[in-house]
Amino acid sequence: MMKPFPNRVPMANLPTRIEMLNRFSQELGVSVFIKRDDLTGMEFSGNKIRKLEYSVGEAVNMGADTLITCGGLQSNHCRATAAVAVKLGLRCCLVLRNGEPEPPADGNYFIDKILGADVRIIDAESYRSRRSEIMEEIAEEYNAAGHKAYIIPEGASNGIGTFGYLTCMQEIMEQEKLLGVTFDTIIDAVGSGGTFAGLCLANRLYGLNKRIAGVNVCDDAEFFQKRVSEIVEEAGRYLDEPVEIRPEEVEILDGYVGRGYALSQKEELDFIRDFARKEGVILDPVYTGKCLYGFTKEFEKGRFSDSKNILFIHTGGLFGLFPARDQFTF
Ligand SMILES: *Cc1c(COP(=O)(O)O)cnc(C)c1O
Repeated sequence: MMKPFPNRVPMANLPTRIEMLNRFSQELGVSVFIKRDDLTGMEFSGNKIRKLEYSVGEAVNMGADTLITCGGLQSNHCRATAAVAVKLGLRCCLVLRNGEPEPPADGNYFIDKILGADVRIIDAESYRSRRSEIMEEIAEEYNAAGHKAYIIPEGASNGIGTFGYLTCMQEIMEQEKLLGVTFDTIIDAVGSGGTFAGLCLANRLYGLNKRIAGVNVCDDAEFFQKRVSEIVEEAGRYLDEPVEIRPEEVEILDGYVGRGYALSQKEELDFIRDFARKEGVILDPVYTGKCLYGFTKEFEKGRFSDSKNILFIHTGGLFGLFPARDQFTF
């Protein structure tokens, strides 16, 4: 018998709407829908809140009063964690990666500051090689001061966090009934892998047979195929149900990282601008813009010729658009 899902702290505005992208669908000649996970909230908008509902559920069960997590300076995940902490009366420490130790307060980082998070900025090399140790040291610092710290890994992309997107798939299944549509293909952006892993896990557990394809915005296909497989396995342990998704079963649309993580090029920003003017929906430059741009390119190459009803998950990221303002042309 599969165990019940772990406890969650409900915070997101759910269910998020699914809408048809009319003009975009017409252009591609296939039905493309959008799931508005950018509307899960304001302060904690985007996909991270679904994962945090479970991470924070575990933290609260363990009696923690402090959340520690990490990400880039413009991390949506860190901003959402800072908002959740305030909402629940917890403390929050964010370890943010940035070249410059005192960057201007803009975008997500500006919101982190407004929310009063304890921000520690570290350089890219320390982030890459030592972020776990640094978070452990900060946890000890908080614990020594009489608090109880809980560490959430980057993006809350671990076994517990990924339940947020297992639950999201249940929501999609309900919406399919209401809308009278079955989505044969689901597309989303992959940054730390937890969102995508949750969708793949649900696909397997419920035998849905959907094609789930992720566009990576950093690293490469091989990295995420392995990572998704690990996250799924870790989630299975919470359910006392071994689940195995082999790396070669994971579909990553590689080739759209562009200039690098959180770096944009003209084609991507023009795509965001044109999409906004077509559908009245704003994508972000780090994740959703690259994802839908990459999907469109692959679609044009014929990679999705068997798909009939495609669902793109808008995972949020609006605040990250503002620091990129000067790179757009109108
Ligand atoms: C973090 C993030 C993603 C990627 O989700 P992961 O679970 O980290 O792979 C996609 N879109 C936005 C806007 C994000 O902030």
